[in-house]
Amino acid sequence: MAQRHLTDGFARRVDYLRMSVTDRCDFRCVYCMAEDMTFLPRQRILTLEELHEMARAFVALGTRKIRLTGGEPLVRAGVVDLCARIAALPGLEELCMTTNGSQLARLAAPLREAGLARLNISLDSLNPERFRQLTRTGDLAQVVAGIDAANAAGFTHTKLNCVVMKGRNDDEINDLVAFAIDRGLDISFIEEMPLGVITEHSRAEAFFSSEQVRERIAERYTLVPATDTTHGPSRYWRLAQAPDIRIGFISPHSHNFCATCNRVRLTVEGRLLLCLGNEHSVDLKAMLRAHPGQPERLERAIIEAMAIKPARHDFRLDDQVQVVRFMNMTGG
Ligand code: SAM
Ligand code: SF4
Repeated sequence: MAQRHLTDGFARRVDYLRMSVTDRCDFRCVYCMAEDMTFLPRQRILTLEELHEMARAFVALGTRKIRLTGGEPLVRAGVVDLCARIAALPGLEELCMTTNGSQLARLAAPLREAGLARLNISLDSLNPERFRQLTRTGDLAQVVAGIDAANAAGFTHTKLNCVVMKGRNDDEINDLVAFAIDRGLDISFIEEMPLGVITEHSRAEAFFSSEQVRERIAERYTLVPATDTTHGPSRYWRLAQAPDIRIGFISPHSHNFCATCNRVRLTVEGRLLLCLGNEHSVDLKAMLRAHPGQPERLERAIIEAMAIKPARHDFRLDDQVQVVRFMNMTGG
């Protein structure tokens, strides 16, 4: 059979799926969630079997890379087994995960064994008290132990993700870079995105641009633009002092990356989101449940959904929320 591909209305090939496996989390990061969150009841979320079926359909349609995310993917019971089943899908080139690291001390080795190829681990502060404030519940020592467990389990090209907020953690940028160098990790700095209504801080006031992050890093290191691209939203640099690691910048406000977008997102409710910054979506769970045992129906719905993928997101830098979904629902 001829190789199948997903292509949207702007001739962009879509071959990367980010799948949220839960909306739940053991943290309540200030930029991601409200303190008092209501989570979805069990019957509204995809079962492990349904998550596998969704992954299978996307891989059959030419998806080469899947990232599992959430919520916190590692709080979903059965996630290691799910990883093993998805990693084994013929045609999938890479299965990765974004995690807060809190469960990695226990799960890094089994995940590696299950075939998970790469990890992104979120880390916004190296100060235990501040880490607790930013995550509301998190324990820094546990996350650092998780990062070390990932290294010990043999994961390579692990990347730290850091959301930078003015006056909250911008003074730690170079300490986080030093931590990454010390452990042989890449690190990406992210501009906060206006997803979900938060009252804990003003996003406009906390805005710290990637340009400002680079200026801060340049005070201690020499940044050299990296020549390799990933088609993703990150733009990469290297450090003359540590050429083996990459410093990435995800800048939805100051750099629009939509022209080369190759990805879609699946929420744990089975809703396919065609763009992070728009509400366009298709209910794939309804399709799957209405036509059990008919994978071609699901595949057709996915192909047809590509037609409504918008050209670009439209994030603005004020405190007007344009997308009411929280990031834990979106699958960051
Ligand atoms: N719980 C996992 C974690 O924290 O890595 C995976 C899900 S989390 C939603 C994925 C990424 O989104 C994290 O790196 C987090 O820092 C980032 N994130 C969450 N809310 C964000 C926001 N409003 N703007 C920018 N990044 C955000
Ligand atoms: Fe949880 Fe990740 Fe959101 Fe933090 S960013 S609350 S760890 S889902």
